[in-house]
Amino acid sequence: MDHFLYKDGVLHAEDVSLAEIAAAVGTPVYVYSTATLLRHFHLFDDALAGMDHLVCYAMKANSNQAVLRTLAQAGAGMDVVSGGEYRRAKAAGVSGDKIVFSGVGKTREEIELALTGGIRQFNVESEPEMLLLDQVARELGKVAPITIRVNPDVDAKTHAKIATGKSENKFGIPIARAREVYAMAAKLPGLEIIGIDVHIGSQLTDLAPFEQAYGKVAELTEVLRADGHNIRRLDLGGGLGIPYERSNTAPPLPTDYGAMVQRTLGHLDCEVEIEPGRLIAGNAGVLVSEVIYLKSGEGRDFLILDAAMNDLIRPAMYDAWHDIVPLNEPAPGAEPRPVDIVGPVCESGDTFAKQRMMPTLGSGDLVAFRSAGAYGAVMSSEYNSRPLIPEVLVNGDQFAVIRPRPSFDEMINRDTIPEWL
Ligand SMILES: *Cc1c(COP(=O)(O)O)cnc(C)c1O
Repeated sequence: MDHFLYKDGVLHAEDVSLAEIAAAVGTPVYVYSTATLLRHFHLFDDALAGMDHLVCYAMKANSNQAVLRTLAQAGAGMDVVSGGEYRRAKAAGVSGDKIVFSGVGKTREEIELALTGGIRQFNVESEPEMLLLDQVARELGKVAPITIRVNPDVDAKTHAKIATGKSENKFGIPIARAREVYAMAAKLPGLEIIGIDVHIGSQLTDLAPFEQAYGKVAELTEVLRADGHNIRRLDLGGGLGIPYERSNTAPPLPTDYGAMVQRTLGHLDCEVEIEPGRLIAGNAGVLVSEVIYLKSGEGRDFLILDAAMNDLIRPAMYDAWHDIVPLNEPAPGAEPRPVDIVGPVCESGDTFAKQRMMPTLGSGDLVAFRSAGAYGAVMSSEYNSRPLIPEVLVNGDQFAVIRPRPSFDEMINRDTIPEWL
């Protein structure tokens, strides 16, 4: 459920007309709903209410400062995957003891940053990382709290580019080697073993792979405890999927997910962490765009938008579906027609949808891409010298620009010309 609904025939974000935002800020523009962000966070938080838990928002999904501040004020921790994200979390007011550091390539600088600024735990992904972490912690006179990310070799049944829990993926250490690696970690004085971490992928639309992975984590918890390790925290990763295509998908709800977590792991008396990104931010955002032209081609029509693959890369990168709806509610009985919906970028991959059934639209009409709040703005670029598009946050009947559109001069003047030219 989200807070983007038609009111008086115009699509609104909460109580604000998206047409009004488009007129004030221009298009294309990302618009986020505070109520939806908070609703999703609380769904997860409530679903784990019976357990000692922390919901650490995976901020790579949408790391705007205002989004982070909204969630942090509601009590969320953060899952970060870079020094830049760590700095963003801190800047948004998140304290170090609520920040979890994930990622396969943490550098010495990033480790120093987090150890100095405070960290809840590092999710260690390899032995060389573990050795460096131990060394840097000792140099700084600190002890680094760690979990080790295990790769459970479970098929997440999702798009290959976002599956992370199979043995051929680069993430974590094979679960079969976990005892050996934990034994090694226990000998390193710069580290303190806190628990176990697992994250098998993103946009999972079925609970079975999660349950399989968490079952393996439960077994491993018992084994490691028997080996003498004080396993007291389980980081269960993120990955719960969202209904990008509302007419035919209904992934499990956070409540079902929470019940499954309690069923599989509740008996272990561990604190649990989850790291949802997409499910918190995805349906909390839309991308609003204007039709530039309706172009008639050989046997098919093209709706050419002012948004492009550089603004929202998911269709080009993951073959992703986004529901695309007109801002003005179509009249009842209006006949939809198939169109290809494309951007202006000089690549055939700049196609958002093929032969999509749409009401008749033309130049100047506005559309909204639904479910664009996660992995949208954060993955955008200035390809084709198209300045990054603005972001707007709505809260009730108010809205604010939370990242302005840079001017062309700002974009161009970031380059510098060497003196020999
Ligand atoms: C990307 C990622 C997440 C978030 O995944 P979602 O599908 O957005 O919920 C959580 N944890 C880790 C380690 C990740 O890499």
